[in-house]
This record gives sequence, structure tokens and C-alpha cells, in this order.
Amino acid sequence: MSKTGVFIETTDQEIKQSVFGVISAAAAGGGEVTGFLLDGRADKYKDQLAACGVTELVALEAKDIDFSKSPQATGEALAKGATDFGISALLGVSSPTGNDVLARAAMALKAPLALDCMDVDFTANTVKKSHFSGKAVATLEMTGALFVCGIRPNSFEAVESPVTIKITPHTVEVENSDAIIVTEVQAADSSRKDLTEATVIISGGRPMASSDNFKILDECARKLDAVVGASRAAVDAGYAPHSMQVGQTGKIVSPKLYIGCGLSGSVQHFAGMKTSKVIVAINTDKDAPIFTKSDYGIIGDLFEVVPALTKELEKQG
Ligand SMILES: Cc1cc2nc3c(=O)[nH]c(=O)nc-3n(C[C@H](O)[C@H](O)[C@H](O)COP(=O)(O)OP(=O)(O)OC[C@H]3O[C@@H](n4cnc5c(N)ncnc54)[C@H](O)[C@@H]3O)c2cc1C
Repeated sequence: MSKTGVFIETTDQEIKQSVFGVISAAAAGGGEVTGFLLDGRADKYKDQLAACGVTELVALEAKDIDFSKSPQATGEALAKGATDFGISALLGVSSPTGNDVLARAAMALKAPLALDCMDVDFTANTVKKSHFSGKAVATLEMTGALFVCGIRPNSFEAVESPVTIKITPHTVEVENSDAIIVTEVQAADSSRKDLTEATVIISGGRPMASSDNFKILDECARKLDAVVGASRAAVDAGYAPHSMQVGQTGKIVSPKLYIGCGLSGSVQHFAGMKTSKVIVAINTDKDAPIFTKSDYGIIGDLFEVVPALTKELEKQG
């Protein structure tokens, strides 16, 4: 039976939420799923990983190496793990960390690499990627004995698929490279959750008119358990930080529900959120292009519609 490897990315001693969707994608492929963990907490995570289909959790170690400080050593260790455990496809989340280490792993393996993929077919060895600001979807054939693939967060739903898991400690030899050493990681704003991980997003555009006005989106977001995003026009005007920008030059997101408030529907914004499962637009202009690209449209002033929505959600508890 073929084996698919998954890089188990962790932050703050938790598995990154979107990793579970990647595991489900790997499990749906029919082969065995091998997780590669590099933070030494295999016992803590094993039950969560077994619940979604990981049959073997390989706890990678290397003498005198702190993987959290070395993306190069992490990539090389993943490559060694993939080789030693006979993996035919190595997957991970296309997050900043995932993209960094998967690229280094592919380099070490001399294997083909595709990042930000929306779909993967393990039988045909193909992946699907969005191109030209989301106007085209390319199907790429991955040749060779092993390929490396980063999956766009939330492209796959995490599905329960319980199995028995075994933990295998595995020591690899990797070079103690000092080419890049991570000395500090500063979260942009620890009070806001990661947009790319969100299942519900409510975004504001240019008509928000001030950073203070974003409070109405924050209030609604709390009721919806949503994360607040922004268009580039709102970011450029200084109403929101760049970490909140959705789009071609911002974050690529794929939530279950995307609520756009005062967004015209530019191609560059859509490039970042068009794979949202349901899109709702609130706009005063009935002819705004966003209405042609949304599942539901509300013609109205966001400063009236959003507080009314929040109030209604409050009533429902
Ligand atoms: C190379 C490049 C990269 C780019 N990357 C990005 C990117 O990553 N992300 C991004 O977002 N943009 C990006 N842009 C900018 C993009 O082209 C648009 O300019 C931008 O998305 C417009 O933002 P907006 O929809 O908030 O504003 P606008 O286009 O000004 O639209 C505002 C909308 O709000 C409506 N409106 C006005 N008042 C209200 C109200 N009170 N209530 C409800 N609706 C109201 C208006 O009818 C209008 O439709 C990029 C552009 C370029 C050239």
C-alpha cells in the first residue's frame, strides 16, 4: 500500500488547525498516512492525529538541532523521513512555515514541488492550482517516485476517520546549518486569529472610513466566531493592518462563509477569497460587480446592515 506523508505543523504547542484537513485529504487518497512531527510532543498529539487517520506518527529528532530555529534542518529532516519511510507524496499546509520547509524538503529530495494547491489526486499524481488571480485552474502532473505538495488552508474539510496509531521515534542526521537561524517570532496582533485558518470571515472595504469603524465588524465577528479581514483599499488607507488584507497581495483564504462589507469585488480581492464556500456581499450599489460573484447579496449600507445582523445574532444567543 502506498504511503502519504504529512508534515504536522505546530504553533504554540498545538497542531495547526488546517493540518487536519490535509490529513483527511491524504487519508481519502487511499494509502496509509504517516505524520512527521518535529516538536517532540508526539504523546500530546497522538489521539487527535489517530482520530483523523494517521496510522504512524514519526517523531523526528536530530542531535544538537533545534528544529524550531532552523527551517533548513526541518526541510532536510522531512526529506530524510520521507525517504526512510518510503513515502510517495509529502504534503503539508501552504502556510508561511509550510511553504518554507516543504520547498527545502523538495530541494533535498530533488522532487517536484507544488504549493498553494486546491486539490490533489494520488492515483493520477496530479495537483490543481489557481493561476492568473484565480481566473484559471491548472492541473499539474507530478512526475517521479515522490512529489511534495503544499495544500491551501481549508481546501479540505477535516473528517473523522479513527485508526490505531503507532509512534515511531526516528533520529536523522542533518547538517547543523547556520545559514538561517530563527531568533524571534513576533505575532502581528495576538488578539486576532489567523485569517487563513478561519472558517468564517467578515471583511471591510474602503467605506469603513476609519480603523475605529472596524469595531462594528469585530462585534459581529464575535457573535459569528469569525475573523475580521480587509481589502487593500482599507489597508492602504490605514484603517487596518496588512496582516488583515485578503487578496492577491494579501492572505489567500478559503472559509466556509465570507461576508464582504463595502467591497466592490475587484479581481485582486477575489483572487484571495474566491474559493470560499459561501460568499455574502453587503453593498449600497445594486450594480456592484461583487453581486455577480456572490451567493447572497444584501443591497444596503453596511453601517446599518452589520449592526442589525449583530443584534439578530445576539437575540439568538
Ligand atoms: C497589483 C495589485 C494587487 C492588488 N492586491 C489586492 C489585494 O490583495 N486585495 C485587495 O483587496 N485589493 C487589491 N488590489 C486593489 C484592488 O484593485 C481594488 O482597488 C481594491 O480591492 C478595492 O477595495 P474595496 O473594494 O474596498 O474599495 P472600492 O473598490 O472603492 O469599493 C467600495 C465599494 O463599497 C460600496 N460602498 C460604499 N459605501 C458603502 C456602504 N456604506 N455600505 C456598503 N457598501 C458601500 C461601493 O458601492 C463600492 O462598491 C490590488 C491592486 C493591484 C493593482
